[in-house]
Amino acid sequence: MKTKLGLLYGGKSAEHNVSMQTAMAVIKALDLNKFDIHPIYITEKGEWIQGPQLMGPVESVKELSFSGASSTAPLAFSGAVEKGEEKSKGFDVIFPLLHGPNGEDGTVQGMLELLNLPYVGNGVLASSAGMDKVIMKNIFAQAGLSQVKYTWFIRSEWEKDRAASYNKVENELGYPCFVKPANLGSSVGISKCTSKDELEKAFEEAFQYDRKVIVEEGIVAREVEIGVLGNDHPECSVAGEIIPKKDFYDYKAKYEDGNTALVIPAEITEDQHNMLKDMSVTAFKALDCSGLVRSDFFLTSDGKAYINEVNTMPGFTPFSMFPLLWKHTGIEYPQLIEKLVNLAIERHEEKQ
Ligand code: ADP
Ligand code: MG
Ligand code: MG
Repeated sequence: MKTKLGLLYGGKSAEHNVSMQTAMAVIKALDLNKFDIHPIYITEKGEWIQGPQLMGPVESVKELSFSGASSTAPLAFSGAVEKGEEKSKGFDVIFPLLHGPNGEDGTVQGMLELLNLPYVGNGVLASSAGMDKVIMKNIFAQAGLSQVKYTWFIRSEWEKDRAASYNKVENELGYPCFVKPANLGSSVGISKCTSKDELEKAFEEAFQYDRKVIVEEGIVAREVEIGVLGNDHPECSVAGEIIPKKDFYDYKAKYEDGNTALVIPAEITEDQHNMLKDMSVTAFKALDCSGLVRSDFFLTSDGKAYINEVNTMPGFTPFSMFPLLWKHTGIEYPQLIEKLVNLAIERHEEKQ
């Protein structure tokens, strides 16, 4: 029997277009002898529209941008809800191809839990803890992982006494430092600061995106990433290095310039690779992850590794780091998708 796969893509987020490209690539890679593909499109306004079953690859995102009858999130799954146990009428698995808030942060995952539908990737806890850089770092600290120094502020606290906030940063971290909205990705709202002036501007900027802001000690280091796949027994990929052509890996470098170099496998020693793999598995387990994560590290010239973050729904086009890491480890894109679907079903069955 074929697997009825619901693809959830688009979304009310800065990464809407990235998600559309990902959906096209995933559809192209799926084996139609094994999967029935059911598109669920979330518009930029946040409407949910279920399109007709797809019979093959699509050539443009236009074909995936359905219009017409829309609904609020759970109602888009009414077929699945009404038929209850009668699985053939609902979906076998949902693949959320969404990034950032409302996609990667546990909200969609919570809805899928309530609907009792298996879904690809991380559950509610790992998704939400991974989206909040402060919570994530606190958990990593507790698991004994090395990280750069950090501190954080709530908007109301900063508004009450801005000078105290800046003093705290200068005393505890100094310059350069990085100011970031706690709950975001894609480098949105992130600034590197080398002076009090820049720090003030960076706080204004970051607080536009979130009520919570994290500030980190700036580090000079290589940026090396590892892919992790699995549930209870996660496995690691080869390492990849990002070489941004700019001061740091900002939003433009990620999505617009196209000249950031990815070096896979990264030129690191076997000992370094083993260290990063160990740290990746520790991070995966500490956050109680499932399915996949991409773990990102800073590697300094004296050989020390610091975990920067994990991404619970990493970029997933065939040209993104995560699929490329697995390709170099021996798992091609179509196999990777199937593996993720199987992990989703395995995880769902274990919970029952
Ligand atoms: P996002 O979740 O948006 O990717 P990151 O925390 O990974 O946010 O930061 C984006 C980029 O900013 C990193 O890839 C790196 O280039 C740079 N960066 C972030 N934090 C630091 C730091 N503490 N020291 C040096 N560079 C940093
Ligand atoms: Mg991130
Ligand atoms: Mg990052």
